[in-house]
Amino acid sequence: MYAKVIVDVPAKQTNRAFDYAVPKELRSWVEVGSRVGVPFGPRVLQGFVVGLSNETDVDPKRLKPIGHVLDLVPPLTAELVSLGRWIARMYLCHEVTALQAMLPAALKAKYERVITVGEESAEHPLLHMSDVQEIVQFVRGKATLTMEGLMERFPGRDAFLKELLQAGVLAEVQMVKDRMATKKALTVFPPKDLSVLEAALPELPARANKQMAVLRYLMEHPHAIRLTELIEMIEISASTVKSLAERGWIELREVEVMRDPYAGRSFKRTTPLTLTEEQSRVFAPIKAAVAEDRHEVFLLHGVTGSGKTEVYLQSIQQALDMGKEAIVLVPEISLTPQMVERFKGRFGDQVAVLHSRLSNGERYDEWRKITRKQVKVVIGARSAIFAPFTQIGLIIIDEEHESSYKQEESPKYHTREVAVQRAKGHNAAVVLGSATPSLETLELTRRRRDRAKPPFTLLTMTERVASRPMPPVTIVDMREELKTGNRSMFSRPLYKAIEERLHKKEQIVLLLNRRGYATFVMCRTCGYVAQCPHCDISLTYHQSSRMLRCHYCGYAEREVTQCPSCQSEHIRHFGTGTQRVEEELSKIFPGIRVIRMDVDTTSEKGSHEKWLSLFRDKQADVLLGTQMVAKGLDFPDVTLVGVIAADTVLNIPDFRSAERTFQLLTQVAGRAGRHEKQGEVFVQTYTPDHYSIQHASRHDYTAFANQELDVRANLGYPPYQRLILVTFTHEQLSLLVRMAEAFVTRLKEIARPYMTRQTDLFTPVVTDEEFFHMDVLGPVASPISRIKDRYRFQCVVKYRGDDVASDIVSQTVAWFEERSAKEKLTVSVDVDPQYLM
Ligand code: ADP
Ligand code: ZN
Ligand code: ZN
Repeated sequence: MYAKVIVDVPAKQTNRAFDYAVPKELRSWVEVGSRVGVPFGPRVLQGFVVGLSNETDVDPKRLKPIGHVLDLVPPLTAELVSLGRWIARMYLCHEVTALQAMLPAALKAKYERVITVGEESAEHPLLHMSDVQEIVQFVRGKATLTMEGLMERFPGRDAFLKELLQAGVLAEVQMVKDRMATKKALTVFPPKDLSVLEAALPELPARANKQMAVLRYLMEHPHAIRLTELIEMIEISASTVKSLAERGWIELREVEVMRDPYAGRSFKRTTPLTLTEEQSRVFAPIKAAVAEDRHEVFLLHGVTGSGKTEVYLQSIQQALDMGKEAIVLVPEISLTPQMVERFKGRFGDQVAVLHSRLSNGERYDEWRKITRKQVKVVIGARSAIFAPFTQIGLIIIDEEHESSYKQEESPKYHTREVAVQRAKGHNAAVVLGSATPSLETLELTRRRRDRAKPPFTLLTMTERVASRPMPPVTIVDMREELKTGNRSMFSRPLYKAIEERLHKKEQIVLLLNRRGYATFVMCRTCGYVAQCPHCDISLTYHQSSRMLRCHYCGYAEREVTQCPSCQSEHIRHFGTGTQRVEEELSKIFPGIRVIRMDVDTTSEKGSHEKWLSLFRDKQADVLLGTQMVAKGLDFPDVTLVGVIAADTVLNIPDFRSAERTFQLLTQVAGRAGRHEKQGEVFVQTYTPDHYSIQHASRHDYTAFANQELDVRANLGYPPYQRLILVTFTHEQLSLLVRMAEAFVTRLKEIARPYMTRQTDLFTPVVTDEEFFHMDVLGPVASPISRIKDRYRFQCVVKYRGDDVASDIVSQTVAWFEERSAKEKLTVSVDVDPQYLM
């Protein structure tokens, strides 16, 4: 038997499967999806088995055998292995990078470099020297000797040791070490035959009442118990138990335990609610697809507060009734205790939770519950899409429009697409839920020119549960405020509304999508703006540390009071960040209790939860924050939502800015008046007439979507054309420009034979599979043209038609990497980029 193994080195030369022999004794362990240790050159590497066969093209005598298998149960399934291949092709990454992304961090390989005796050591002339013999002897006696350890033992001989390494007398090898650490706990086992304990009692001396207490307890409770629990229960010491174990009456041994991040917390069990008419209408087709084992993708467009979660819950119940499993994805920041509670409350122990605030160990244990089939539902952020289930009936993506579903690092996959791909293989249904669906998803629910049935099915809920009204939205023109002499960051209407809520003891949510104190520092005399010396971006002022910081590379410098360029003292902070608003609030409303939530206040584990529960308990009047406060929160006493500056997102030079503005405003407005009390929303802006703000104020998604789709069609942007962003970086600008131009020329050459149609690019109809057209924009300097002293250039590939574009770019990159290998130029590819930065 032979295994095809992809080794854990993400490089071009190793981006293929290598054949290995499977030794007899490992045959029953090696499966597709197994992690194995294999010899690779002088090293031992970790790898994934991606195929098994009885044949090999390599001379079997020259094949090396697999060294060992790392897990008793393969961490990946055959289905995930082939999904990895698909991801590598779609998003242009190394296959091993895709496979690694599917595993919890605790399973990522850790290598240890150790020194061993080299292959040349037997007859090497150097060996006649006595001190070499001493060194070799020493190395031979150590199993895991590091270079540091060796140098410590033979101080001052560094150069000589290096010579021995080069001569092959010694060798440095990599050993795979498994990082996963299961947690173990000492556990007490009573004997199967309880009469042993009865017989033991009279053998104890009369004063050994602690030991007797243990024996009696175990006679009454004849099952295994953790040592720590037993100690607490009957107030004894560990040595008491140990001495009993030593006499053979009871057994004491280590047992693996699962870390449960939700241990000790009980979840109130909930039962299914009676669905509203709208809920029943959207639930029926989802239920049917799950019941019939049929793959279908639904877009559930439901206004905020329309009760999408209940639809999710009942759909999952349907999957469970069919004996199937379900994956629920939510954006990381809305994976709050509130959300977890709703799922744990309905499905109890059948739910595993995966999110980044768990420790590696906790994550690993939650993940193992899946591989051991102890759970049927997983709720998690992005990477939970790779949950190693084998019987998926349903995948739900809540807030499907969130850009965080796109992974920014390699593999740069989009969770939505991976979900659809996985669901196809399982005949599973997919539900994409949102109050503001992405235009890409919406477009797929629309009729094709020549196809009767669109790829996705649209389901709509237009009303809030219990006919609660949508909150009225007032747009406040900040230019008018300025004209009438109000220079404060609060307009008069918002000011009055805040005052009123404080008086009535109701709660307020304030949104400002910018952290820190100010956006930039500028000299009023000469216009100098403080910039990062390593990046093409201005520095941000942080009040608490009185430092100017670069949000890209972390560079920091002291606050300046005098302009470095003209020495003027009129150097000021401009713009507003959350920290600044917090300060201002306390100034204007003395005694106001504000909770600020942004990356700076939520970096600590558990802080996110802490702030939200303080706010829920009415320990604060205002929840102020970045987009973190816009998502998924449901507080009954929030009756006012204020948006400090709606233009912050709109002014970002990106074709999705209008869409993001509409989404953010709709989401945050959805936090108001979700229960009995009526809510109200104020949006402050300098561009009150912009259609994204206008439509958001009327809660009119469809009108916004239609207008924005027209804009996209005219400019040839998604969803009408797809994009691939290629970014080049190098320290030297002229070389960078030359290489980027060479890339684009080559790309166009490779693409030419594929081009099938030149015209009709701007009709608002997506992809007819029969034709392919591609355009390349650039190369041009990236919007942020330098980061960490490296210049950045980019080109954007726009295409319509079938998926060969990835292949064309991939071929060009391969050609390019060969030519630019020695130039230290980096090229990175982002398929379907969320930001063109
Ligand atoms: P969405 O996710 O669509 O914004 P939620 O799922 O949070 O909305 O539901 C809004 C509120 O309505 C929640 O408090 C929820 O408990 C309640 N709710 C949902 N469905 C029903 C129902 N069928 N009957 C009664 N209350 C419901
Ligand atoms: Zn100046
Ligand atoms: Zn910087």
